Amino acid sequence: MHRYIVHALLSISWFVMHPSAGVSCFAQLPQPVNEPALHGSLINDTVAVGTAVEREAPKSQWYKGNLHTHSLWSDGDDFPEMIVDWYRERGYSFLALSDHNILSEGEKWISLAEVEKRGGKQAFLKYQARFPDGWIETQSSSDLPSPDSLAKVRLQTLSKIQAAFEVPGKFLLIPSEEITDKGVHINATNIGELIEPQGGASFVDMVRNNLRAVGEQTQSSGRDILPFLNHPNLSDRGVSAEELAWIVESRFFEVWNGVEGDGDLGSVKRHSLERMWDITTTLRLTEYQAAPMFGLATDDSHDYNGKQKAKPGRGWIQVRADSLSTQSILAAMRAGDFYSSTGVELTQLEFDPVQRRLSLQIRADGDARFTTRFIGTRRDYDRTTTPRTDPESGEVVPGILDYSLEVGQVLATVQGLQAEYQFTGDELYVRAEVISSKAPEFPTSESPWQKCWTQPCGWQIEQTKPNN
Ligand SMILES: [Zn+2]
Ligand SMILES: [Zn+2]
Repeated sequence: MHRYIVHALLSISWFVMHPSAGVSCFAQLPQPVNEPALHGSLINDTVAVGTAVEREAPKSQWYKGNLHTHSLWSDGDDFPEMIVDWYRERGYSFLALSDHNILSEGEKWISLAEVEKRGGKQAFLKYQARFPDGWIETQSSSDLPSPDSLAKVRLQTLSKIQAAFEVPGKFLLIPSEEITDKGVHINATNIGELIEPQGGASFVDMVRNNLRAVGEQTQSSGRDILPFLNHPNLSDRGVSAEELAWIVESRFFEVWNGVEGDGDLGSVKRHSLERMWDITTTLRLTEYQAAPMFGLATDDSHDYNGKQKAKPGRGWIQVRADSLSTQSILAAMRAGDFYSSTGVELTQLEFDPVQRRLSLQIRADGDARFTTRFIGTRRDYDRTTTPRTDPESGEVVPGILDYSLEVGQVLATVQGLQAEYQFTGDELYVRAEVISSKAPEFPTSESPWQKCWTQPCGWQIEQTKPNN
């Protein structure tokens, strides 16, 4: 057996030369392909990877964006350009409108009665007040149609909205679709053509089939399409942590989704999403020689007119990219160079692969206090699993195993605006989460405090391969 190691850290020289420029925690992961890309870095037969990759350090900066948003094109309650306007005015750099099984293109009309039913009387009035004459298209003879059941309004296309709202270097709209396949929802970011739900006999099949369809479009179109698995705990059924570990082609998932009641914190039948992340990361690195998933926070916003369940502004990502283009944003995400947030902002985030040190700095926020927890799993972790028992009924809960607390354990806790973790050498990975003493602007029962999550750092993939 020829044994070699795929290091997940390739940008060493860049980091050493430009420590303040920032470097991702990870290798530049390969672009998606039609078949599952199993490992963190492309390798060849003879060369051990892990050597430094020389490249010019670009001037990178953080870009804030939300990749999960709904509009009247599917089940949101506002016009797409009103939503785009909301995000742009609040300082987001990029946004994806990701409606269910539809792209915002072609001609689509919606009755004003339906608009009122979704967003209330004010939805259309606000729309009229915001946009000038000539922008709004209706099928009424009146310039100001009353919301009767016959009047209709046209939903504007993404391309028209892009032309009106995008500002080079300032604001970017990325095409997207939430492929909605019964209980499996996958956002295909930067999709070019509609993908119909692919179906499948099980949740695992549905995830794999839809990811495969995304991969096929990636190959046929040549565009980088980044899929991520949405709200894995939306119902009490869905892919388990073990299954998610095994679906190694799933590289991104929502570790936090802004919809109230979507199960972020888990239940007796489901691990919390953070716990699922740690179990999945640990299993991938030990059992499947596969890269961890990266975690996103998103709004999944539907409600822009007063309802509270799925408001915008609750969860987003901060991506460190060399420019505000879809290509740069997605490349940085594939490199793991982003963090997720419900309010906490980082001014510095570095992983030094030589010193083996993860460090971050938090932007001060009045009198808010910050707690950083470094979380990871050590190589010699206790691998015991136990069936979960329902504390009320005393019966075993099917489909869920509890893992030892050494999986995703808190390795260190730091108070204050700066935090640093020095690897001891036996960690499979380490990630950081920061919790503020302040509530988010739009809190939910699942999100009482502002928080942020970095991606897993410092991992590597060991692999065995037979000699020729
Ligand atoms: Zn969904
Ligand atoms: Zn959604």
